[in-house]
Amino acid sequence: MKCCEKPIFKVAISIPVYSLFDYLAPEGVALDSIKPGIRVEVPFGKGKKIGYLLEIATHSEFDLAKLKPIIRVIDLYPLLSNKDLRLLQWAANYYHHPIGVVIGAAFPAALRQGKIISIQPQKRYALTDLGLATSSQQLQRSPNQLRALEKFKSSATSLTEAELNVWEEGWRPAIKQLITKKLIQLALAEGSVTNAGALISKPALPANAQQQAAIDEVCGSLGQFDVFLLDGVTGSGKTEVYLQIIQSVLERGQQVLVLVPEITLTPQLEERFRQRFAVDIVLSHSKLTDKQRAVAWLKMQQGQGSILLGTRSALFTPLKNPGLIILDEEHDASFKQQEGFRFSARDIAVVRGQLLHIPVLLGSATPSLESLHNVNKQRYQLLALPVRAGKAIVPTLHLLDIRNKRMQEGLSAALLEEIHKALAKQEQVLLFLNRRGFAPTLICHGCGWVARCYRCDANLVIHVDENCLRCHHCAKEEVLLKHCPECKVGELTPLGLGTERVEKVLAELFPDKVAVRLDRDSTQRKGSLEDYLQQINEGEVDIILGTQMLAKGHHFPNVTLVAILDVDSGLFSIDFHAAEKLAQMIVQVSGRAGRAEKRGKVIMQTRQPEHPLLATLIQQGYQSFAISALAERKLASLPPFSYQALLRVQAAESDMPSIFFHALTELIKTLNARHTQILGPVSAPMARRAGQYRYQLLFQNNRRKELQHFLDELVPKLAALKQAKKVHWTLDVDPVDLY
Ligand code: ADP
Ligand code: ZN
Ligand code: ZN
Repeated sequence: MKCCEKPIFKVAISIPVYSLFDYLAPEGVALDSIKPGIRVEVPFGKGKKIGYLLEIATHSEFDLAKLKPIIRVIDLYPLLSNKDLRLLQWAANYYHHPIGVVIGAAFPAALRQGKIISIQPQKRYALTDLGLATSSQQLQRSPNQLRALEKFKSSATSLTEAELNVWEEGWRPAIKQLITKKLIQLALAEGSVTNAGALISKPALPANAQQQAAIDEVCGSLGQFDVFLLDGVTGSGKTEVYLQIIQSVLERGQQVLVLVPEITLTPQLEERFRQRFAVDIVLSHSKLTDKQRAVAWLKMQQGQGSILLGTRSALFTPLKNPGLIILDEEHDASFKQQEGFRFSARDIAVVRGQLLHIPVLLGSATPSLESLHNVNKQRYQLLALPVRAGKAIVPTLHLLDIRNKRMQEGLSAALLEEIHKALAKQEQVLLFLNRRGFAPTLICHGCGWVARCYRCDANLVIHVDENCLRCHHCAKEEVLLKHCPECKVGELTPLGLGTERVEKVLAELFPDKVAVRLDRDSTQRKGSLEDYLQQINEGEVDIILGTQMLAKGHHFPNVTLVAILDVDSGLFSIDFHAAEKLAQMIVQVSGRAGRAEKRGKVIMQTRQPEHPLLATLIQQGYQSFAISALAERKLASLPPFSYQALLRVQAAESDMPSIFFHALTELIKTLNARHTQILGPVSAPMARRAGQYRYQLLFQNNRRKELQHFLDELVPKLAALKQAKKVHWTLDVDPVDLY
């Protein structure tokens, strides 16, 4: 180790390397202006890279003469606070992922690329007392000013430039005249709105007793760390609870981070927030441009934005004045990042709350078994909303035994009758089938040939609308064949059922009704999901058909019949998470029925009417299901009663993984495995995907700490194995999907 007077700058770079890189001070920059958390540009190899300064040290393990100076300091002040850095360091350690990649994930792409983006503070206008007292007659001769004044009277007490832009493009002249007349004034700058009256544009609904109890509990914890699990049936008013708690946080002058699954971040949800609060609400999701995401991030970082409504990746957004983190639909799989830096946004949100000393509120109608377990362990506090808010009633669930019944493209006669009945009453019907495309298999009736993906262990799915066969695992496409390539004469037959196929039969069976299909294929065009949702809500649609996209958070007041066309396909899976996911899916889909005053009915077509999971769910509900599922996990020592990490390995050459595992086994022998069970290596359930041969090795331990210590020792050594360079490997800590 070399010691010297000169400071050494330890920089994290977004590349898959576990260590930091040492640099010398940049030339011509005052040293005291350089603080951890800033971005820097550094020489790297033959080029340059953007890095994040993490530490300033006095030692380097390298020869000082070989160290190079930082090229450029990008930020004048740190974009990430010490607490942000501590959180990211924790995440890098816990998930055993390179720190530079983890920090990179905290930044939106534009900032990660080293761009400098400045945000203009928005102007905000409000009515004056005189404006409030001015009647319409007084402005009768200036219709534009009158409309502007009425806009202010009818909506927020104050409006931002952005909100006015949305309202009407050419708003400026009228506002200018109203300012001259002293009817409108420039309001306080954003972020400095502190009086409660200015925060609320629409009053809250009177909370029912359970809602009030939940609100009081969380509000009692503002300013300290606690985790709450809001377990409320669909339509029980969870969102209303969030809104009222958020109000209290805003009154304290603090910011709120609200995370939702991608698909629930619809304009309707945004609208509900905007109607309630006259503060700057910032959105962050994958459909925004890089620039928009960077602006959203900076607004929260600088305290201009009060509420951030975002998806998983918004979790790390720095908050100038944090007050509360909410994670809605906390059971949802989209909170787990499944590639690259594989983290659980729910778990990190809890750690973040602890670091920031603020409460974390998790909400769901179907809480994850992990969170229910944490309630049982008294780590989380349970807040229950057992009944629907307002007048809506929870729908009734029915199993429809379809054994030996004649089916018309997946629809039984009994179900068709129910659909006719609901449609005759001008009500909407929702059909759920979790498989997109026309049919999952194309088979030759003559010789039995099946269309397979040559790069994956999978069948090609038929997409009639696009006239193609597509692999749902590697996206490989082929034209839809007309003749069997094997025997040349046999008739090619579609086998099984996808949403496209049901859509076509619906058009035949209900020619005078309007059906829409909502799945990843039909909603690819930007804005199309929003358009469909609007058509549904305006009553232009009779039948809604779709995949899991429908299961999440949407509110369809006029749907009274929900049918799950093929519940059985979820019953047989080798992954122990499958039962939980199926139960959540059934309850969530059911929750779309009867959200208004009409009672809903849910029908599940099954060939397994006596299946214990279905029976428990129907007779006793999700909570009973969860209790028995947790008991089973405990018996089998599965998570959350034990902890897992999955090492996935793949390579284009079939023998590389086994050479790697051989070296790995030798390495593990030299380590203290601390009671860690090592299961495998085995072929992945899909042994070949996109041309890669795939294997996996599972580590399991009843103690999280022991597993962590073992991984701490293992991962750096594993990464250094020369055989590891010949395969692609990833470590998934707390995997939720064993595929
Ligand atoms: P969840 O988020 O649990 O699905 P929401 O908050 O969306 O539930 O509420 C469902 C419906 O009930 C909404 O239309 C909402 O306006 C209404 N609602 C919620 N709370 C109340 C209340 N206290 N009084 C009357 N209606 C309510
Ligand atoms: Zn054939
Ligand atoms: Zn494929």
